[in-house]
Parts: sequence; structure tokens; C-alpha cells
Amino acid sequence: MSEQAPREAMEFDVVIVGGGPSGLSAAIRLKQLSADISVCLVEKGSEIGAHILSGAVLEPRALNELLPDWQELGAPLNTPATVDRFLFLTEVAATRLPTPPQMNNHGNYIVSLGNVCRWLGQQAEALGVEIYPGFAAAEVLIEDGKVVGIATGDMGVGKDGQPTDNYARGMELRATYTLFAEGARGSLSKQLMARFNLRDGKDPQTYAIGIKELWEIPQENHQAGLIEHTTGWPLKGDTYGGSFLYHLGDNLISTGFVIGLDYKNPWLSPFEELQRYKTHPHVRKHFEGGRRIAYGARALNEGGLQSIPKLTFPGGALIGCSAGFVNVPKVKGTHTAMKSGMLAAEALAEALAGDRPAEPVAYEARLRESWVWEELSSVRNIRPAFAKFGFWGGMAYAGIDTYLLRGKAPWTFHHKYQDHETLMEADAAPRINYPKPDGVLTFDRNSSVFISNTNHEENQPAHLTLKDADVPVATNLKRFGGPEARFCPAGVYEFIGVEEGQPRLQINAQNCVHCKTCDIKDPTQNINWVTPEGGGGPNYPGGM
Ligand SMILES: Cc1cc2nc3c(=O)[nH]c(=O)nc-3n(C[C@H](O)[C@H](O)[C@H](O)COP(=O)(O)OP(=O)(O)OC[C@H]3O[C@@H](n4cnc5c(N)ncnc54)[C@H](O)[C@@H]3O)c2cc1C
Ligand code: SF4
Repeated sequence: MSEQAPREAMEFDVVIVGGGPSGLSAAIRLKQLSADISVCLVEKGSEIGAHILSGAVLEPRALNELLPDWQELGAPLNTPATVDRFLFLTEVAATRLPTPPQMNNHGNYIVSLGNVCRWLGQQAEALGVEIYPGFAAAEVLIEDGKVVGIATGDMGVGKDGQPTDNYARGMELRATYTLFAEGARGSLSKQLMARFNLRDGKDPQTYAIGIKELWEIPQENHQAGLIEHTTGWPLKGDTYGGSFLYHLGDNLISTGFVIGLDYKNPWLSPFEELQRYKTHPHVRKHFEGGRRIAYGARALNEGGLQSIPKLTFPGGALIGCSAGFVNVPKVKGTHTAMKSGMLAAEALAEALAGDRPAEPVAYEARLRESWVWEELSSVRNIRPAFAKFGFWGGMAYAGIDTYLLRGKAPWTFHHKYQDHETLMEADAAPRINYPKPDGVLTFDRNSSVFISNTNHEENQPAHLTLKDADVPVATNLKRFGGPEARFCPAGVYEFIGVEEGQPRLQINAQNCVHCKTCDIKDPTQNINWVTPEGGGGPNYPGGM
């Protein structure tokens, strides 16, 4: 683009990137500690909650600490967990397994995390936090080696990089401290980890993709509070993953499939695994007479304690899933994300009231002393044990670690590989034939993306950028069978012209649901996900 006008700037004590549970908890805690601290929060979704996707069973521990009177304040925690079931599936049978203690949900709530975030947003605004939804933080501002805030993306730039009639220059939001709360594989957090070497000496972060559907079912089949997890079929023993199915609210089911992105077979399609799972004789009866009403997908962290990066750098810190605090055996990361935001807020409030050190190191010290660290420490070996010993070995180890060693093993298993390094070559891997969707219980990608209400301004620069335009065909297709066409849950990547012998990759960027899987799993790391124009992406309804 020709010479750009300077950006307007606004100054705050703290800027927060991302309006998920961690960012909103940090904002609320800062204002609780001092009404004088100026706090601004930007969210790339069209509204708070629009991009939030989670199971979601909420353990209210952090919420109890943040807003002990949440019930009086009308928090949308309306479905207490009642029944926990953990099942092992074969193709035809379902066998009940003992529910591991981490998966005991007594005292927890099945929620729409999007609605919880909408409500947290209201609490934050009532305390004086300035919230700007529809604005993507596109650039980290770094001066003299210190993060001094972020810049929101320019709006109204065309595909050709030139301003359109709707052009508006981005804003600089400057702050003494900036908190990055972008969730798993945040695009700016990724840059910060590289810029400040935050991953030095840590295990690689590992991820899973979670694909979710929301169903409305007849009242007579609904059992509010029922929580069911499965493992086994349709996955093979070398692939980590399983399903969740929660009955919540008024006749709703939240169901989904989570698959570790360290999977090896390039022919595997996480989207189709979810569709297959629903056809199991035990599972399909949950959906009888029902109707699918929403769809979405999102990556989540699975690295655990060993993969937590250094949390602070001059001018700011990473909180929530931007850093990675998911407790994998518990299948929960919301409570830890919230608590990390609160601890960062406490460290920043103290720093702002004191001598304002460039790097808010007290946050990491607080986190290491908190229940988050203790909790993640006690389960740190379980997820890597599955990568090390396979499914049955992992199950056996998990039992020993939990019941005999009680999470106090004197060793730590490490993650050896990044998820993009694990794919086999396509010729060496068994093909998987997925059944065709029936349009009633099982669906295709296009009709699924349609009910994620995803929308992007079409005339804008690509947000799925390729470092080298030749690599998708020359390497990804040739060696790995074009896995992006299968791991993307939104049908964004399509290889066309294959049969004619002139293959090329078509990128349907407007379908992107911002799950970040391509940024993680692309075997050549040729795809770089950057923020599109603010307000673009999914618009998950209340209930998701
Ligand atoms: C399928 C699935 C099921 C899960 N089930 C559970 C469960 O049952 N219980 C549980 O406790 N946890 C569960 N989790 C994990 C839980 O959802 C996360 O741990 C939690 O949401 C993390 O909160 P966060 O605030 O760190 O990030 P997120 O919730 O990801 O929020 C990040 C926010 O930042 C915004 N953002 C990102 N980048 C930018 C940017 N550059 N500019 C502006 N805005 C930006 C995003 O749009 C988003 O709104 C699940 C996750 C998945 C994917
Ligand atoms: S393009 Fe990438 S981030 Fe977007 S939906 Fe597909 S895999 Fe997810």
C-alpha cells in the first residue's frame, strides 16, 4: 500500500488482547483492585462470545474467587452436572469404565462458555473496562525491546492491498502493560514467543482440535446435567482423542470430538471422525428426533505443565490458553485460564502501584505458587504417556499415576515432537474411507460452516498466508496427500484440478472459523494464520 497515514493512539495502564475467560477475568480483577487503573480490551469477534467455543463444563473454582456473588449477579450457570459417564466404544458396543477422579464433575456446571463470556463482559464494563469488540489486534508495538501496546488492523483494505472506499486506519492502543489472552495458538502470542525466546528450555506446545455441534432434542430424551465422555472407536489406538456429550439448558446437547494433533495418518479427517462417532448405536439415540443448530471448531492446548512458556517479557505477559493451562485429563482449561488472568492482574496492579518494573515477573512467581501449578503438576505425565505407550499403555499408566502415585511421580515425561512433525507420508499410511453424510445425523463441511454463521469481508488481503505458494502442491499434496483438505474443519483448503493433472490449492478463506489447526498441523509450516479484518469469523450463537 502507498504511504500510510500515522495511526491515532490511545493510552491505557493495561491493554488486554482477547475477550475470552482469561482476558475478561484479568480485566475484572484489575478494576476490582483499583478503579483508577485504565483497562482496555479488544476482541476480534463481532461481539464478546462470538468466537468462544468450548465443551463446556465449568469448574467454578476461579469464578468463586473472582465474583463470589455470581449467583446474585445472574451468571448463566444454569445446568449443574448430575451424572458422569465414561465409556469405551468399539464399533458396536459401549462399555462403561470407572470415571477417573479428574473427570468427576460433582459441583461443576454445564454452560455455554460464549454466554458466560458475554456475562463476564457485562461485569467488566460495569466496572469501567473499555471493551472494543470487532477489533483484531494485528500488530505488537515494540519500542526499545519493550512491548508498548498493540495496533488494531486497518479496515477496508482490498485484496490487492489498496484502500477501498471503506478504508479506516487501525488504532494504536498503548499501555504500560499488555496482556495477551488470545487463546490457543494466538497469532501475536506466537510472534512474542519467537521474539522473546519464551519457549527456550520448554517442551514444545502440543494441541488438539475440538469440533463441536449443538443439538436441540425432544424434551422426553433430555436429561439435564448428564455428562458423557467416550474413548476408543472410531479412532485407532495410535490416535489420542475422544468425545464429549453434555445435556444442558432447555433440551440442548453440546457434543463434540477432540483429537490430538500429534496424529500420524494424513488421511485422517477430524471432522469426519465426529460424524462417524454420532452413528454409534449407543450415541445416535441421544439425537433421535433432534435437530443440529450450531457448529464450530477450535484448537486447544494439550502440552500441560512441561509446555508452559516463560510467561512474561518486557511490557507484558501471556495469560490463559495463549500460554496453555489446559488440564487434559480433566478436559478443562477455563478455570485455569481465568485464574491465570486474575494472577496476572494482581501482579500488574501491584506493579502499577509500585515502581512499574519493565517486566511484570511477579505474575509467573504467583502462578507457580497457585493451585493452577499444583493441579497441572499432578497430571503432567498423563497426556505424554499416551504418546509414549499408545492407547492401552497410556490408559494403564494413567491408572497407576492417578491411583497409586497420586500425581506425585518423581519423573516427568516430555513431549518430543511438535504436531506438524508427526505425519507419515501418504503412501505409507492406510487410507480411511468415511461414509457419506445422510443430512440428518451426519453432515458435510459446507452445511456445517453455514450454521457457524461465519462471515468475512471478501475484499480483503488473505489472512491464511502461504510463505511459499508452491509448497502445497509440491510437498503437501505429493508427500502427505494434501492433509489440509482434511484437517481443516471448514473446507477452506481444496485441491482442485487433481484429476486433470493440474493440481492447485484453492483457499476459501471466507469459511475460516479461526480454529488455528492449519497454523499448527501444516507439515511444512508454510501456512501462517494472521488476523483478518476485525468482526470477521464465526458468530457462535448463545448456547455454544
Ligand atoms: C472443543 C473444546 C472443548 C472444551 N471443553 C472444555 C470444558 O468442558 N471445560 C473447560 O473448562 N474447558 C474446556 N475447553 C478449554 C477452554 O475452552 C479454554 O481453556 C478456554 O476457553 C481458554 O480461555 P482463554 O480466554 O485463554 O481463550 P479463548 O477462550 O480462546 O478466548 C480467546 C479470545 O481472544 C480473541 N482473540 C484472539 N486473538 C485475538 C486478536 N489478535 N485480537 C483480538 N481478539 C483476539 C478470540 O476471538 C477469543 O474471543 C474446551 C476447548 C475446546 C476447543
Ligand atoms: S483455515 Fe485454518 S484456522 Fe481456518 S478453519 Fe481451517 S484449519 Fe481452522
